Amino acid sequence: MHRHYNFCAGPAALPTAVLERARDELLDYQGRGLSVMEMSHRSDEFVAIAEKAEADLRELLAIPANYRVLFTQGGATQQFAAVPYNLLGPGGRANFVNTGIWSKKAIAEARHLFGDVHVAATSEASGHLAVPRPEEILLSNDAAYLHYTANETIGGLAFDYIPEAPVPVVCDMSSSILSGPLDVSRFGVIYAGAQKNIGPAGLVVVIVRDDLLDRARADMPSLFGYRALADAGSMINTPATYSWYLAGLVFEWLKDEVGGLAAMEAINARKAARLYAAIDASELYSNPIAVANRSRMNVPFVLADARLDEAFLAEAEAAGLLNLQGHRSVGGMRASLYNAVPEAAVEALVEFMADFEKRRG
Ligand SMILES: *Cc1c(COP(=O)(O)O)cnc(C)c1O
Repeated sequence: MHRHYNFCAGPAALPTAVLERARDELLDYQGRGLSVMEMSHRSDEFVAIAEKAEADLRELLAIPANYRVLFTQGGATQQFAAVPYNLLGPGGRANFVNTGIWSKKAIAEARHLFGDVHVAATSEASGHLAVPRPEEILLSNDAAYLHYTANETIGGLAFDYIPEAPVPVVCDMSSSILSGPLDVSRFGVIYAGAQKNIGPAGLVVVIVRDDLLDRARADMPSLFGYRALADAGSMINTPATYSWYLAGLVFEWLKDEVGGLAAMEAINARKAARLYAAIDASELYSNPIAVANRSRMNVPFVLADARLDEAFLAEAEAAGLLNLQGHRSVGGMRASLYNAVPEAAVEALVEFMADFEKRRG
């Protein structure tokens, strides 16, 4: 068996140690004689798995006691609807920072459901090459909350600061959560689809300050409700049990193997620095994002001659470097360097890129 290096933007690489553990426990979970996939979500075994996962996540992110952690479903995309349903009180308006494709989708869903929204700042005019500065974020007087996207997965554009607002700050952290330490107390709501840095698809983690649990609109689908989910231990209906279990294994891996989020951040910083340095030093590859806003998780780059794209991708794949194609909406290349992508993968990629440039550039 050989595992290639996987730079997929999502569903993304998982730590090999986590998959090995899942394999070992697949048929017979800790002597219980059945798989986690086959357990009742109400069983003592699964409830213990779920509670351990939450406890480890709380420890990793130092989540304050006045925040609830929800393990829900529907992707980050469902949260584009769930957030306004939960937080838009009467007369309030959703405020957004637009930094690219994912922010725009969140804006479009709020607009679709509730009509008017306010875009408090946008980097659209610059082609989303740098995030708006703090003083450029201008809330409406009726702002109910401010939503932003910490890391634009497609554009490779990341905030280098946490926006401040007199209303709750809501963050789509799908592609950057757990990439380093975080001050959760700065946020009203954080949500993240699992398939980038948490675990397999099918699970969404929502971290919500408990004073925001009771603002929901009455006409909300009951499965969207933060209060109902919190009261039910995220088990209003059957949760994504196996994804939840695997997320728990990833949290354990982060704690025990990596040594926590400060250690993870140092590794991520080295990986990204190595790749951006290689891009900047080359004549063939380029990345246009303002240096302070370059994403550590998703590194898009283009080749000076797009006619080489196909050969680049084919040769990369033959060299065991998978999923380097950019998002279908933007083209070019993208290397996602999530937590589970080891430094050796980046080293192999940088070597391949230099060799390709020497031969074809
Ligand atoms: C992947 C992603 C999403 C969409 O996630 P789904 O789980 O497919 O709904 C939303 N926001 C960001 C920032 C993402 O990276």
